Amino acid sequence: MQIKAKAVIENFVKKQENNNSERKVDIVAFQPSAGRNASTNDSVTEDQPLIDWDQIREDAVKWEKKKWADLPPIKKNFYVESPSTSSMTEVQVDNWRKENFNITCDDLKDGAKRPIPNPTCKFEDAFQCYPEVMENIKRAGFQKPTPIQSQAWPIILQGIDLIGVAQTGTGKTLSYLMPGFIHLDSQPVLKRNGPGMLVLTPTRELALQVEAECSKYSYKGLRSVCVYGGGDRDGQIQDVSKGVDIIIATPGRLNDLQMNNFVNLRSVTYLVLDEADKMLDMGFEPQIMKILLDVRPDRQTIMTSATWPYAVRRLAQSYLKEPMIVYVGTLDLVAVNTVKQNIIITTEEEKRTHIQTFLESMSPKDKVIVFVSRKAVADHLSSDLILRHISVESLHGNREQSDREKALENFKTGKVRILIATDLASRGLDVHDITHVYNYDFPRNIEEYVHRVGRTGRAGRTGMSITLITRNDWRVATELINILERANQSIPEELVLMAERYKANKLKREMEKKMGKPQGKPQKFY
Ligand code: AMP
Repeated sequence: MQIKAKAVIENFVKKQENNNSERKVDIVAFQPSAGRNASTNDSVTEDQPLIDWDQIREDAVKWEKKKWADLPPIKKNFYVESPSTSSMTEVQVDNWRKENFNITCDDLKDGAKRPIPNPTCKFEDAFQCYPEVMENIKRAGFQKPTPIQSQAWPIILQGIDLIGVAQTGTGKTLSYLMPGFIHLDSQPVLKRNGPGMLVLTPTRELALQVEAECSKYSYKGLRSVCVYGGGDRDGQIQDVSKGVDIIIATPGRLNDLQMNNFVNLRSVTYLVLDEADKMLDMGFEPQIMKILLDVRPDRQTIMTSATWPYAVRRLAQSYLKEPMIVYVGTLDLVAVNTVKQNIIITTEEEKRTHIQTFLESMSPKDKVIVFVSRKAVADHLSSDLILRHISVESLHGNREQSDREKALENFKTGKVRILIATDLASRGLDVHDITHVYNYDFPRNIEEYVHRVGRTGRAGRTGMSITLITRNDWRVATELINILERANQSIPEELVLMAERYKANKLKREMEKKMGKPQGKPQKFY
């Protein structure tokens, strides 16, 4: 194979050399905009016209303005501060935020900062003017707004873009849906020529879940549809063409419908990027970019994310305008402290015995989600367990969408109490009564660990996680120790040793690399 590859490369290089000597470069895009020294690059013809990038930029701004010129203005501010909210003193606001999972807020606008609105501690404080929203909340039986809701509502209702850094299970979906309903219903246009709200989510499961919340709290007959890959494409096209107010979509399928002109996004005035960090992890950025080319830039945008790494900040900078940020807990990773986290140091060979022992010791009321690294492992493990007469469902990307929905339904209703899943299920899935999370394989990164653990211990309940760690996972040992320490969990001695060994080994490799590095100026390869 090496000989073959070498021959192919040599052949290719020879061809390139022949081409270069025969042809002059005529791809204008390769030229620098100005100040090119043609004498140093004799393969570029000297009479090529330079591209006037300034003119192109100017034209782009003009076209952009023209593209949106015929759209009606957007109404964005619907907030009337209640007397009890406006009468809160600074100390009261600070105390309240501290007591509510240490909410922190900031204005990311450049220049003079705007005041962050006081939190709406009761539902009436946010929605006193919207009795139908109040009715929905009453019907749901909620006692009070969750921390993210109480701080997000007064910001979003004023029409300000918002970044909400909060984990799933914190009530973040309603924190953007409720103000979104009011926004849609209060637009001055009599008839929209397409959807008014667009919610982009990373997975089909989350899209379906958001849609379920949307329908449950439906407001003034606003129609919502879910558009996701793997689902019935023709059916979704029909639904979209019938006229909808809210589209909840995964980026790939929506981009497909958009490119084929089945959906018009010019009418969207309220945009939500839900679980932005997960969408980036899943490589959806190009699709998001293409989708947003067709959404008017003066829309209101809400972004939620469980973490706040550089890539998410960059996305926020590109797509949100002068946003405020609200985060619950600290900005870095925290695993929910309602979960007891157990770590077992083991070997790949012993994993099967561990899980079997665990599953056999489950009580009838327990419900467990077992996370594995790959689809094949999910299949093998589930068939192995079924052969041992243990009833399980599995959830991974290679299963048909209808099977995935069925598996999830069986797990939710409790028909089956063991779900074997890949990280497809680590976020967003809202099953209240999961008692255990079992990490059969450690996830790709520590963020995913936090999300997996957060599948249990939800809605005020306590939960337990069991994580199998092998020598292959040693590079995450230090980060895992940090998470465990901050959640006041016990840390096995073996894990500490593993982290130390990894650090020592890393140091050794770095030293070796340094020693072996050629001295002097680095060689140029270009
Ligand atoms: P989410 O973080 O959006 O996935 O929400 C998790 C769960 O919390 C959902 O089942 C919501 O219906 C529920 N929820 C949302 N808001 C509240 C609230 N104010 N009080 C109690 N539960 C809520």
